[in-house]
Amino acid sequence: MDIIVSTRNEHKFSEISKILKSSKIKALSLKNFPGTPKVKEDGKTFSDNACKKALKIARITKRLTVADDSGLEVNALDNAPGIYSARFSGRSADYESNNKKLLKLLKDLPKSKRKARFVCCVAVADEQGIIGVVEGKCLGMIAFAEKGKKGFGYDPLFICNEYNKTFAELSPAIKNKISHRAKAFAKAKKTILKYIEKKDKK
Ligand code: IMP
Repeated sequence: MDIIVSTRNEHKFSEISKILKSSKIKALSLKNFPGTPKVKEDGKTFSDNACKKALKIARITKRLTVADDSGLEVNALDNAPGIYSARFSGRSADYESNNKKLLKLLKDLPKSKRKARFVCCVAVADEQGIIGVVEGKCLGMIAFAEKGKKGFGYDPLFICNEYNKTFAELSPAIKNKISHRAKAFAKAKKTILKYIEKKDKK
């Protein structure tokens, strides 16, 4: 069955379609649907945003759609930046300014107070409504300085518990096995396969 991955980011699309790969699933990029609007991420939670994106695209295209929202939660900052991860340092935020702000806010905090997690929420929807919402998390801490050159966003500052290295020091193959996104989409794949099985029985 065709499933639309609600992203215009080709890198993300390729990562997600690898996880969803199955003889029963054919992942399609939003690029195949040029008229679809950009969906505003104005919800209060990752789940709100993922559901809004999945539902809107499913209703417009009349196809099964999967959408995600993700970000970084830092314990010492009451779980900020959270849903505001992309625009943490303001309207013209970029990865560099966001990382700089994060380091500044945590400046005097010892290792024990630098706990953080990446969260990814994935929603699956068809034109009738939401079929399922799942979440993946990756636990770790915020480093005292950037380390590593790979990845994007907060990767150089996020030390994951599994490897005790920043995401930016890990190969994409390893990151894509343990990341919040990998965990969430692996769960979403189960939801999608169950949905297809039900449809096939009808
Ligand atoms: P989105 O869900 O792809 O829109 O991600 C929102 C923001 O969260 C990104 O712009 C990054 O700042 C941050 N983020 C999400 N996932 C990652 C990751 O795997 N590494 C680094 N930053 C991430």
